[in-house]
Amino acid sequence: MRNKSNFKETKPRVEFTMFCNNCANETKHIKLFSYLHPDTIEYFSKNSDGSVKDSFWSIHILTYIFAECLGCETPSVSIDEYFPDNIDSIGIRAFAKEIEDKGKSEKYNILSHMQFPHKQIKPLPKWCKELPETLMLLIVETYNAFNMDSNCLAIMGVRAIIDELANIKVGDIGGFDKKLDSLKELGHISTLQYELLNTVIDAGNASIHRGYRPSTEDVMSCLDVIEHILSQDVILKAIKRVKDNTPKRKKL
Ligand SMILES: [Zn+2]
Repeated sequence: MRNKSNFKETKPRVEFTMFCNNCANETKHIKLFSYLHPDTIEYFSKNSDGSVKDSFWSIHILTYIFAECLGCETPSVSIDEYFPDNIDSIGIRAFAKEIEDKGKSEKYNILSHMQFPHKQIKPLPKWCKELPETLMLLIVETYNAFNMDSNCLAIMGVRAIIDELANIKVGDIGGFDKKLDSLKELGHISTLQYELLNTVIDAGNASIHRGYRPSTEDVMSCLDVIEHILSQDVILKAIKRVKDNTPKRKKL
């Protein structure tokens, strides 16, 4: 049994639901410790030419809740941002008590929520360690971007993964058109996969050149396409191993 932190002795016992990456689900957590951090933040609006139109500074409060999953004991930190306008010193004390007792405020709305470790929207495929290093590193960074809600970076990463895959399979022979044609002609991808990759590459191009901000569902679909194609090589390698390990039939 590992040594428990003294944080667990804090009263009252506060339980709430949050996502546990280890359980891969929303689970009951217990609050170990909480901390408030008032800070200033700059808000601004922009003109159509991209210049800053106006800006103002305001106070917001970040609440850090250190918690532990009651199912598997994995710790995590939840950071909520509040914007309690016109709050005075009495209001701050009441707010702090509410956070201490309940883990969140019912009087003020949460403006943003972060969690560390980040919620794994799409976990890294276990087989990606079997891929060439350059490809594996691109996949790791792309999944990290996606799991941190950076969808534009993630879709650009997907485009880069396809580029690197083509470089490995057919060489750096030119633009995406040539690379996809060659991948299909040499049998690395099917006609259907050729069409899917074209769509995925265009989404990446649109994000780079046309200001496209893809939804989480759209990036998820693009990653599904990539996973399906990349996993082929891993499956082929595994099946070759099965073939090599299978005793040959004796000739009669
Ligand atoms: Zn858990």
